[in-house]
Amino acid sequence: MKKILVTGAMGQIGSELVDQLRHTYGASNVIATDIKSGGQSTEGPYETLDVTDGERFHEFAKKYQVDTIMHLAALLSAKAENNPKFAWDLNMGGLVNALEVARDLNTQFFTPSSIGSFGPSTPKDQTPQDTLQRPTTMYGVNKVAGELLCDYYYHRFGLDTRGVRFPGLISYVTLPGGGTTDYAVDIYYEAVKQQSYTSFIAEGTYMDMMYMPDALNAIIKLMETDPAKLKHRNAFNITAMSAAPEDFEKAIQAHIPEFKLYYDVDPARQRIAESWPNGIDPTAAKEEWGFKAEYDLAAMTKDMLEKVRNK
Ligand code: NAD
Repeated sequence: MKKILVTGAMGQIGSELVDQLRHTYGASNVIATDIKSGGQSTEGPYETLDVTDGERFHEFAKKYQVDTIMHLAALLSAKAENNPKFAWDLNMGGLVNALEVARDLNTQFFTPSSIGSFGPSTPKDQTPQDTLQRPTTMYGVNKVAGELLCDYYYHRFGLDTRGVRFPGLISYVTLPGGGTTDYAVDIYYEAVKQQSYTSFIAEGTYMDMMYMPDALNAIIKLMETDPAKLKHRNAFNITAMSAAPEDFEKAIQAHIPEFKLYYDVDPARQRIAESWPNGIDPTAAKEEWGFKAEYDLAAMTKDMLEKVRNK
């Protein structure tokens, strides 16, 4: 990775990934792009790019002579359910364009899949790396198709595609973009602001989660791994914790004893959450490229509360 183009760079992951990549690989070697304008004020090159415009995508990648594409632009789970056709066009159209640009310029390629690629018939606990994937959401359908497409470009064209299945990501820099696990970010902001939170996800609903620093390290570690070590390449299960709303409540109460958690369940997002695993098995990622998460729920909660307070 010497010259990296990032799509969806103003989103929850992209905004922090670009900073970390610039720190490691040099500011001028990381080209941030997003459909939103306004990223020009950040240090390093920025281009406004709609990933559904394949020609412009190709033009920018060529102009900067990139050797790596990190494709993050997508519509997330809850928003995709509200607008499934738009989600298909963006999530699949953008991905095919990104893969075609990567193939034409022979770049390395990264795109994230998600725990949303699993469905109600998938084993719920210690969900294996290779298992049944029959998701019931448009987001899930897009993610499974995306995993297969990335495998296809590797097998068919020898493109160096790599990826992970991210769990719900928790961060304090940029607010999440409309996912089912967003409650696990909102809860910290409300805990600091008013010592209470009303969860749209029901008590007892377990989902995988991870703190953003671990997610960023995972991306870079996977991309830097000797390809000979990778058996799976795309869609590695990774997770740092399996947690339900009441686990966040207890972790926050260790710092803010008066914190109270209430519930007002949103049936649409609850349905999505219930179709996902309780906890996935990251053994393949550990064995093939040394994946490791530093933050558990307690360590993440301490850091999140500090950072959100400072904000
Ligand atoms: P986000 O919604 O925060 O950001 C997406 C970015 O894409 C936004 O800045 C948006 O402006 C941009 N975008 C939207 N349409 C675009 C277009 N047509 N062209 C270019 N840019 C466009 O998303 P995120 O949380 O940063 O997620 C990035 C990737 O990681 C997605 O593929 C998502 O499915 C995956 N993922 C995220 C999580 C999570 O918890 N954040 C979990 C699992 C997987």
